[in-house]
Amino acid sequence: MISPHPQDEQAHLNSLLSEAYQIARQYIHHLSQQPAGCMTSHRLSPTLRETGLGTHATLEKFQQDILPYLSGSSGSRYWGFVTGGVTPAALVGDWLTATLDQNVMVPGDSIATAVELAVIEQLKVLFNLPQHRFDGVLTTGATASNLVGLATARQWGGRQLGYDIAREGFSCLHQFQLFATTPHASQIKVQGILGFGQNQWVKVRGLPDANGQEGEAMDVKDLETQLKASSAPVKIVISSAATVSTTAFDDFNAITQLCKTYQAWHHLDGAFGLFTRCSPQLAHLTIGAELADSITVDGHKWLNVPYDCGIAFTQHPQLLEETFTSGAAYLETGATLPSMMNRGIENSRRFRALPLWFTLTAYGQAGIQKIVENNCDRALQLAEWIISSPSYHLILPPQLNVVLFAGKFNGDLAIVNQRNRALLQKINQSGKVFLTPSNYHGKFCFRAAFSNWRITDEDVLEVTQILKEAFKV
Ligand SMILES: *Cc1c(COP(=O)(O)O)cnc(C)c1O
Repeated sequence: MISPHPQDEQAHLNSLLSEAYQIARQYIHHLSQQPAGCMTSHRLSPTLRETGLGTHATLEKFQQDILPYLSGSSGSRYWGFVTGGVTPAALVGDWLTATLDQNVMVPGDSIATAVELAVIEQLKVLFNLPQHRFDGVLTTGATASNLVGLATARQWGGRQLGYDIAREGFSCLHQFQLFATTPHASQIKVQGILGFGQNQWVKVRGLPDANGQEGEAMDVKDLETQLKASSAPVKIVISSAATVSTTAFDDFNAITQLCKTYQAWHHLDGAFGLFTRCSPQLAHLTIGAELADSITVDGHKWLNVPYDCGIAFTQHPQLLEETFTSGAAYLETGATLPSMMNRGIENSRRFRALPLWFTLTAYGQAGIQKIVENNCDRALQLAEWIISSPSYHLILPPQLNVVLFAGKFNGDLAIVNQRNRALLQKINQSGKVFLTPSNYHGKFCFRAAFSNWRITDEDVLEVTQILKEAFKV
């Protein structure tokens, strides 16, 4: 048998696209029946075929071997992590992105760079960031944005010490000190990648939470004490707008003020918490965020564009480009627009701006605001049910889109945790909802995060029925 070549399929492209379109339609149509989480340990053959099947047969194989085992993560009852869905406009934009296959590395051969720059301007408006002070770049997600932000901070720190770290290496890194209260796991990863070391950061005390326990928001008084006590010539403070477990927000005005006094860089991780700035009801949670030196936001979470997409903003675009530029003759463009490859990790880059442009153009500021506010209302709806339930209890009152709760069991902590772990397993095995675990001061708990545009109050009602039944059996 002769292996098919892409050339051979050129003539059948229309029918192949229709087949893929039918599969996509079916999937979306039945999304509410798709298991929210797929719990099987199904594996694929690692053998590379000598002879290809051709795309038609591959589509059939895909429907047999892969499609049934995927999660309904773009549906309305996948509440694990902080998972966005795909808006219709973003889906259209992303299909076209693959079709058009542009490389947004340097400008000069297409409008793609101008689209990315326009989208970044629109996002500054959406997040109420002063347009003239910030610039940015699209990334693959908040991890990459944290890396871009912290690498820029590192370049800034080197400059303070008379080093150009991007070119001379980081022999001066021992003169840096990082301060944080509840850095996201991706932040820790980034600290390892950038040579600071995953364990080399100063833990700033957390403020008490609503239960009077040490919480995840930074105690600014302790930050001041730690900054004052530090003899490190370069200081970087990492703040959070919505930590993953308890959605705690830091006091960004106070932190910026201290960073000014102690000449520290302020990096703010607002992967999903920055979306509070889209809603007048929630905007008070991120007052002062516009003062941070660098800011991380996710696109594939609350903005509901497909994976993968993040945004890195900074008030220091020159340092950003100094960090990520490595000139080569073939990259000279003579164009007046920046080369986006000089603002981030990759040289060749996906036309990630297009689904963003579609969704922002199709729904506008008001559309995004509505998604955010609806998700927060759904979190409150679930929390109210939990409060009234004899079987579950709320860990903390939700202040955004995340609800922490657990089953009510008697016994010592180890037993209660074990029973809750089993209960979560049972809930997720229903396929009707997918929750992820969390830990609150040693207590195993469930975490429901609302960030998909599809979620309605009926979804919440349906899930409360499932929670009720799972507890009974
Ligand atoms: C999700 C998240 C990240 C990591 O983002 P990815 O998009 O998964 O790379 C970082 N920080 C916070 C606060 C997050 O919620």
